[in-house]
Amino acid sequence: MTHHDVPMTDIATNVQSVLQTIRDAAMQSGREPHTVQLVAATKYVEAERVRQAIAAGITICGENRLQEAQAKMEAIGTSPGLTWHFIGRVQRRKLKSMVGRFSVIHSIESLEHIEELHRRAEERQLQQSILLQVNIGNESTKGGFSASDLLKAIPGIVRFSHVKVDGLMAIPPREEDPEAMRPYFQKVKILAEEIDALHLPGVDMKELSMGMSNDYPIAIQEGATFVRVGAALFGARPQ
Ligand SMILES: *Cc1c(COP(=O)(O)O)cnc(C)c1O
Repeated sequence: MTHHDVPMTDIATNVQSVLQTIRDAAMQSGREPHTVQLVAATKYVEAERVRQAIAAGITICGENRLQEAQAKMEAIGTSPGLTWHFIGRVQRRKLKSMVGRFSVIHSIESLEHIEELHRRAEERQLQQSILLQVNIGNESTKGGFSASDLLKAIPGIVRFSHVKVDGLMAIPPREEDPEAMRPYFQKVKILAEEIDALHLPGVDMKELSMGMSNDYPIAIQEGATFVRVGAALFGARPQ
């Protein structure tokens, strides 16, 4: 079944079921359910279906491409409590248009991007919340700082006062068995603790964006505060 075939009512059912799974995973690990937020990964999902998800309780939409996001933001309009996050690969020249439009940019992977964001946010007199993407499996196909590069780079980020570093984001290597993902989530958490121990101004590792449809309960057990879920809400995407 492609995502186009999933009846609309299923979206509401899926949203409720994912939210329940999030609550259960949080409680099982002794965490308050409200400390974990669901980011609906809405790439390739048309506005009408995103609207259905919002009606069913989604408050954060995570988009991968600026243009697709802009079109959907326009089609859907504002709605109380609704925010948009950017979770896709960042292009430097698009950062100007991204500032202020996304309440959190999850996928910042270079100092150059941070510098540009700072400049653009300063122009607009605002502060942009970001997460730093970590290439936790050291995969050549994936973006993000290596853990060691990040530890070296992060003291230099402090001077970019219009950028607020609120945590880390990771997309670990995909394993069929979600249990096999657990060590990667643990590594992200340890790295965040190492960074927090540096006590850098403007850097607070309060958010960990990790966990997708296949493994979000495990990610929550290991400390995720944002889980980015697409297929479990909207059905499989066209390849
Ligand atoms: C698509 C996407 C997700 C969601 O993946 P699913 O497996 O569909 O839940 C999460 N994070 C990022 C960065 C994505 O691009």
